[in-house]
Amino acid sequence: MEKVDIKNFTLSQLEAHITGQGKERFRARQIFKWLYQQNTTSFAQMTNLSKDFRAELEKTARISNLEAEVVESSADGTKKYLFRLSDGNAVESVLIPDEDRNTLCISSQVGCAMGCEFCLTGTFRLTRNLTTAEIVNQVCAVKREEPVRNIVFMGMGEPLANLENVIGALRILTDPDGFQFSTRKVTLSTAGLVPEMAELGAAVTVNLAISLNATTDEVRDRIMPVNRRYPLKELLAACKAFPLPSRRWITVEYVMIKGVNDSLDDAKRLVRLISTFPSKVNLIPFNEHEGCDLRTPTQDSIDRFHKFLLDKHVTVITRSSRGSDISAACGQLKGRLDKVTAGSI
Ligand code: SF4
Repeated sequence: MEKVDIKNFTLSQLEAHITGQGKERFRARQIFKWLYQQNTTSFAQMTNLSKDFRAELEKTARISNLEAEVVESSADGTKKYLFRLSDGNAVESVLIPDEDRNTLCISSQVGCAMGCEFCLTGTFRLTRNLTTAEIVNQVCAVKREEPVRNIVFMGMGEPLANLENVIGALRILTDPDGFQFSTRKVTLSTAGLVPEMAELGAAVTVNLAISLNATTDEVRDRIMPVNRRYPLKELLAACKAFPLPSRRWITVEYVMIKGVNDSLDDAKRLVRLISTFPSKVNLIPFNEHEGCDLRTPTQDSIDRFHKFLLDKHVTVITRSSRGSDISAACGQLKGRLDKVTAGSI
């Protein structure tokens, strides 16, 4: 009989599994705490369970784990982890330190099917979804070495294209018997899968970020093919309908690309588009990379855009590019490692 990976279970699924074996429900909470609060990697360490029960668990279940194959550290403190999965595929996580609040950016898929023109991961195509265990194991691995305060689903993949496993991971991350992250500290970013946004909002409480990046359907169709399925009007209506707890907002990510979406007319349209829901704008100057013709905007156009939003009372920050000396932009470490494997650098 194949052993189940116990890290694929949310607490309620684990309770069902345990009670199905004739054990008390509260045992599931004990196991959950060992897995996510103690970061335990073997049943033998779970000393508040009887020896017999631990032996039974060993027979039917396993505790999966990830270890970083490569860790690159940037001069600004950003750390990039490359994890090799059991089938040989690789994903990455990026730890961004910021005074007392380290943020860990995690992946939800191997590759991505969305094909955004500005993104290196998009060029890898989708290989497969990550399991719930593979998603939470990125957090377990990094937490063994560094404190983690915030989690963002902004690594490889479109999280809403892997909805079931991502919801499982979100439940484990925010469960009081699991990782215990406040729902304020966990953010999921989507390119705009409209039906799944509603499903997510109905299933869990989480901060939402949308990767907007354009103010007209014409431009968005070109740089984000998902827009042809769910155009701006539908995406913005889904943002308006998303169930936000009070005093929370949707983060609007806007990768600024020279000559594509960095004009003052874009800034004006952006203010209008986001006016129907509480929002905060992150301006992200495009990070140039090999094989992509898009260019970083001038500092002047970034400053002008930023000031226009501020003058219109939009909450806006311009994100500095973190970890650029270690290719910490989405998908870049894996891209380089694939080249190393292929012998091209
Ligand atoms: S930006 Fe996100 S959704 Fe778009 S291709 Fe990259 S990983 Fe996929």
